[in-house]
This record gives sequence, C-alpha cells and structure tokens, in this order.
Amino acid sequence: MIHSQENKIIAIDVDDVISSTIPSLLKYFWEIHNINIEYENLTNYRLSLLEEFASRNISENKIHEYWNNFFNSSYWNEIIPIEWSIEWINKIKNLWYDIVLITARWESLQDYTLEWLDKYFPKNSFKEVHFTWVYHWSSIPKSMICKKLWIKLIIEDNVHNCLELAEFNIKSYLFPRPWNLQIKTNNPHILRVDNWWQII
Ligand SMILES: [Mg+2]
Repeated sequence: MIHSQENKIIAIDVDDVISSTIPSLLKYFWEIHNINIEYENLTNYRLSLLEEFASRNISENKIHEYWNNFFNSSYWNEIIPIEWSIEWINKIKNLWYDIVLITARWESLQDYTLEWLDKYFPKNSFKEVHFTWVYHWSSIPKSMICKKLWIKLIIEDNVHNCLELAEFNIKSYLFPRPWNLQIKTNNPHILRVDNWWQII
C-alpha cells in the first residue's frame, strides 16, 4: 500500500512506560535484601536518597551493585509490559507514526532488552532502540538523540528527562509515577497524562 504521508516519529521511554520494571525491582529488594519499599514511597529515582537506603547508610556504589545483581536475577526476567502498552503502541503505529525507543538502560543490557521487546511486542513495532547510559554513572542526554532524529515528542516517566528535553522545545507526555509527583512544573512542553488512552 502506498501512502503519500511521511511517517512522523515518536520517542518512547522503556522502563515504567512500556516495561513494568520498578515493581520487579521492589520485589527483588524485599525478597533478597529484606528492604521493604512500597511502590508509592519510591519518590526518587535516586534510591540512595530514599529513607530505606539512607537510614541503613547504603551507598550509591552499593546500590549500583544491587542494580547489577537485579539485572542478573530471575526478577529481571519476570518483568512484564505495562498494562495496555502493547495495544496502544500498535494503535500509534497504525496512525502512521514510527516509534523510536530511548532508554537510559546500560548498553550492556541491549541483548536482553531486544529479546524482551521481541517476546512481547509485534515484529517491527520499533524503528530503533537507543541506549543512553554508556558509562558507570553517566548517560548522554535524550535530547541528543531526539535532535538527531528530528523527534518532537516523547512519552516518559522521568520528569528530569522531560525538563531537559523541554529546553530544546521537545514535548513530553509524562505518566504519573510516585517518583515524579513531587516535582511540580508548569513547563508548557510537559503534559501529564493519566494513561495510554489519554495519549491517543
Ligand atoms: Mg522510565
């Protein structure tokens, strides 16, 4: 079928936008390290700042080690897609959008991530998948990839990424998550949405 309209591109984040990652991480912390964090209390992505870690003097390095263990555990393999994400990604594709995933996951998680996407999402759902976390504690900004690919819209759960992208006039649809609710912003480029239904 020939279609004269060129596809537009939307960027979508992976963790806790299409992948239900944090619930598995919390289960891992509870069952393996006896650290109990309720989902609603995960108010900061920087786990070392959470009381459950700070009160035990658990350092950033230790948390980095936990993340690594988590990636190599069965909990990581049990992660399922976020409710409705498969259906709605399909709908977005049917509206002639190309989807590019931009994740802050480490590059070393590339094989696992691509296999996981293959397992749950129809073939060719995603045009490209980019990994921005390249070194121990450093990542390239998501705006760099968006600018390169002329992407004007991203679906995110990390408000800091949204703010960074907004500096370059890139719009975000932001899902409400406990770790972004405390940061109030009136930035016109950031629109909070409740769920996938609203995005369409
Ligand atoms: Mg995320």
